[in-house]
Amino acid sequence: MQSIFYDRARDVNHAIELAREPGAKFIGGGTNLLDLYKSGIEKPVRLVDVSRLALSRIEALPDGGLRIGAMATNTAVATSPLVRQRYRVLSEALLNGATTQLRNMATVGGNLLQRTRCYYFTDPAFSHCNKRDPGSGCDALDGHQRIHAILGASEHCIATHPSDMAVALAALDAVVLLQGPDGERQVPLVDFHRLPEDHPEIDTVIRPGELITAVELPPMPFARNSHYLKVRDRASYAFALVSVAAAVDLEHGSIRDVRIALGGVAHKPWRAAEAETLLRGQAVSSELLARAGEAAVNGARPYPGNAFKVQLAQRAVVRALQTVIRKSGGQP
Ligand code: SF4
Repeated sequence: MQSIFYDRARDVNHAIELAREPGAKFIGGGTNLLDLYKSGIEKPVRLVDVSRLALSRIEALPDGGLRIGAMATNTAVATSPLVRQRYRVLSEALLNGATTQLRNMATVGGNLLQRTRCYYFTDPAFSHCNKRDPGSGCDALDGHQRIHAILGASEHCIATHPSDMAVALAALDAVVLLQGPDGERQVPLVDFHRLPEDHPEIDTVIRPGELITAVELPPMPFARNSHYLKVRDRASYAFALVSVAAAVDLEHGSIRDVRIALGGVAHKPWRAAEAETLLRGQAVSSELLARAGEAAVNGARPYPGNAFKVQLAQRAVVRALQTVIRKSGGQP
């Protein structure tokens, strides 16, 4: 039996000091890490408990943005009046994720770092997986691909990122605040998660010993007009086949500005920059929204088991945009 050590960090600097040991892992809510530990996928030698750190505040910033502490629970963020008023899509994304019990435990930092739910990754007894055991192969390439990626995948891994929250944050231009042995730094959310390329075992750009301390959202007044659409195999407690976070700045029937990000389609939250460019400055029409849906999945490379996702994603983009535009008083 492998020994495991446990420490409760007093403050952020203490947490970083404790995490210098190779094999140490931070633990917040533990809703993903403990599952992976029990199944032998994660093998921490030391757990550094950061759940009691003073990092759970949700506070308005002087510029009109918002700072969300990394230890804020998913429930606290989803129900925050500031989030619901200013960044509706984030609240909706969180409420579409997991269960009440899990949302009460899961933290913002842990949500960003959760690992793929690829069937083969989570089954160490019977499968080959480059993400779990680098160089061992990828059983998904010839296996069941219903939940796998259609964008940005590699020959080494076609997994998707499971977070709903991260998709909304990608659409909202969020920035991840990190603190580690070499000091503090900030990473745009869209650059925080990696594509698999040759190293699918590395999910994010976080460096050894770095702790997520907060996520900041820039001011975005039109994010009040936003929506999260999640398409899944059952109505609750299921990961997205495809999801869309959309925010639209509508003026006199034209799209002044727009944000679109997709979930369930790639190894990271997928910002649909081409679709956004196509929409900006254009008068709303059904034909325009359909073209935006096509642009959102430009370059898709589906597999036999997930080819349906291409059209599903196109339609989900259209539906999410229609929903926001109608709520804003426009006519798609
Ligand atoms: Fe592993 Fe990625 Fe292949 Fe799934 S898709 S089996 S996570 S390498």
